[in-house]
Amino acid sequence: MSALSRRSFLTSSVLMAGAAALPRQASAAAPLARTQGPGAYRTKLGDYQLTALYDGTWYLPIDDKFMRNASGAEVNAALAAAFLPPRVLPVTFTALLVNTGSRLVLIDTGTAGQIADTAGVLLDNLKAAGVAPSAIDTIVISHFHPDHIDGIKTKDGAKVFPNAEILVPEPEWTFWMDDANMGRYRGAVHKYFLNARRIFSDIAGEVHRFKPGAEVAPGIISLPAYGHTPGHTAFSVHSGKESLLVMSDTVRNPYLFVRHPDWQPIFDMDGPVASKARRAMLARAAADRMLVEAYHFPFPACGHIVKNGAGFELEPVMWAPL
Ligand SMILES: [Zn+2]
Repeated sequence: MSALSRRSFLTSSVLMAGAAALPRQASAAAPLARTQGPGAYRTKLGDYQLTALYDGTWYLPIDDKFMRNASGAEVNAALAAAFLPPRVLPVTFTALLVNTGSRLVLIDTGTAGQIADTAGVLLDNLKAAGVAPSAIDTIVISHFHPDHIDGIKTKDGAKVFPNAEILVPEPEWTFWMDDANMGRYRGAVHKYFLNARRIFSDIAGEVHRFKPGAEVAPGIISLPAYGHTPGHTAFSVHSGKESLLVMSDTVRNPYLFVRHPDWQPIFDMDGPVASKARRAMLARAAADRMLVEAYHFPFPACGHIVKNGAGFELEPVMWAPL
């Protein structure tokens, strides 16, 4: 901006501020809202309708050990580059509802308020989207971490989606439901084993297991993307000539993992395998110019991926009328 245009810009800003400050009738005091507006974002994919359903955001404190192959200073610099405070990772949860025209398919189920006080509003947003839990025909699970499966049940163990068939990746079931595996883990991962039993044990007969690679619902293909967990699965959704890549947890916070796909956080169970899957998936999305969605992207968790230097960049979709 030249000095002259800068001055005229400042002058016009001052004039506008002056105009806004003209005396006017004061309106009645309005209370400040305590909640966000509904978090349901619809978009079209061929003949299908997609609805991103916001469940909340967890502000996860992280320390210097969070990334196996990057220092705390490097992680904090990446957060600062995204105007985020240091040592806190915002983990957003967004499930995806696919309406195929004949079936309602929900991919992952939110936290059911069992992970953080600032998350657990998926059912409110499903209601805002005009869909009753009883209308869901199929639930497809990407992997067995609690933030993806807890929404299947209430805290008291009641099924939230009473009419839905539940589909899970076979290798995920095999790993997490195996007692010998459970005995090998301590701490948080041990709790994930217990939680998987809490969710699935008494409904095991109703849970259908699929082999990653299989079509799990009309136009929804599962894709093996192992590493985050042993059976972690992504999906592609196809309708007409359009496709969407549902990356699940292959790629999480974009400011860390789209920009630095080789970084290996401690919550990837196999860091090298997970980062290889991440880089391959981002490269495919960028090369094919695919629409992508990821469970932990900022709401509405949908956009495109472009190559940028050694990493990539997320170009989010715009909020738009249908
Ligand atoms: Zn997750």
